[in-house]
Amino acid sequence: MENIEVKAYGTEAAEAPLKPLNIQRRELTSKDVEIDILFCGVCHSDLHTARNDWGGSMYPVVPGHEIVGRITKVGSDVSKFKVGDMAAVGCMVDSCQTCASCAQDLEQYCENGFTGTYNGMDRHTGGHTFGGYSEKVVVDEHFVLTVPENLDPAAAAPLLCAGITTWSPLRHWKVQEGSTIAVVGLGGLGHMAIKLAKALGAHVTLFSRSPEKEKDALELGADAVVISTDPIQMTSVNRKFDLIIDTVPYVHDLNLYIPSLNINGTLVLVGFLGNVDPLLNTVPLILGRKSVAGSLIGGIAETQEMLDFCGKHQIVSEIEMIKIQDINEAYERMLKSDVRYRFVIDMASLKS
Ligand code: NAP
Ligand code: ZN
Repeated sequence: MENIEVKAYGTEAAEAPLKPLNIQRRELTSKDVEIDILFCGVCHSDLHTARNDWGGSMYPVVPGHEIVGRITKVGSDVSKFKVGDMAAVGCMVDSCQTCASCAQDLEQYCENGFTGTYNGMDRHTGGHTFGGYSEKVVVDEHFVLTVPENLDPAAAAPLLCAGITTWSPLRHWKVQEGSTIAVVGLGGLGHMAIKLAKALGAHVTLFSRSPEKEKDALELGADAVVISTDPIQMTSVNRKFDLIIDTVPYVHDLNLYIPSLNINGTLVLVGFLGNVDPLLNTVPLILGRKSVAGSLIGGIAETQEMLDFCGKHQIVSEIEMIKIQDINEAYERMLKSDVRYRFVIDMASLKS
């Protein structure tokens, strides 16, 4: 097998900035497609992995799991795609495809471990995977999605992670016309949660630390904004929500949000990975039959369902296009919550 060498952007160490690198893509298997990457969204997980915030980063790290591009080659057994098609790849590029989770279209919970688009173990080569901050990617067609033609491909890229990560809990907790939900944090995930929940017919409130984002939140479709650092505003929403989607990336006090859950309500964490601090008080959970839960991205079929829904409802991300050479500055701005509301890399810049 002959590997394909491609240009990429990545980092050799947690403390080092991202820089140009050359990486190898595997020669196509019969089920693989090769995609020429046009756009790649910048997720906060990219930063967490580049800087080894979660431990376990394998260097070099080439981040990027919001990929949209054009198919340039297909293996002999590929049936879903042909050369020239627009296609997309999200957070997974493989899974065992045989376990009970995979059989239920829940590849993200694969019992044998899904293969992350970056920092995963490639099931074919044994090496680790590299993400979308690169010229090309080679992926099993099962993990490749179709982007509705009416959507702008650059603004659709963030749907592949920010979109599906918020769509999956909205669907799992059956958000629909008449549901009352809240979103914590107005960043990449948060702004997609607002758009998707509104399109499903929910009444949506944003919890934010940033008063200057209030106007944007209302324009994005939120019905109300609560500044989470203001105790009076916080008590004004007591017992209101059926579901709260918490997108905050760092440790924060969950107890603040529990009173705003209705009886049987759920706070689902999608942002922070780790031990809660301060500790979670179980009393209001028990007294109100409330839940605190977690959720990871979404399965492939569910991702396609979300993309089709976005096509039907004309939903895309609010993006700021950057060049790959601006990625380190973009990470610093992301840390300051200074993104309106997703950076997307124009991958043509990698060729210059
Ligand atoms: P982002 O664009 O940086 O947005 C995060 C938002 O959270 C910020 O805009 C800010 O909103 C708020 N925030 C940031 N730091 C905070 C702090 N210390 N305390 C309170 N609020 C804070 O990030 P993202 O790309 O949406 O990603 C969010 C998190 O989800 C990341 O940790 C990412 O790794 C994770 N993630 C998880 C999954 C999954 O499958 N579960 C998938 C993708 C990403 P305000 O200014 O409005 O307060
Ligand atoms: Zn992501």
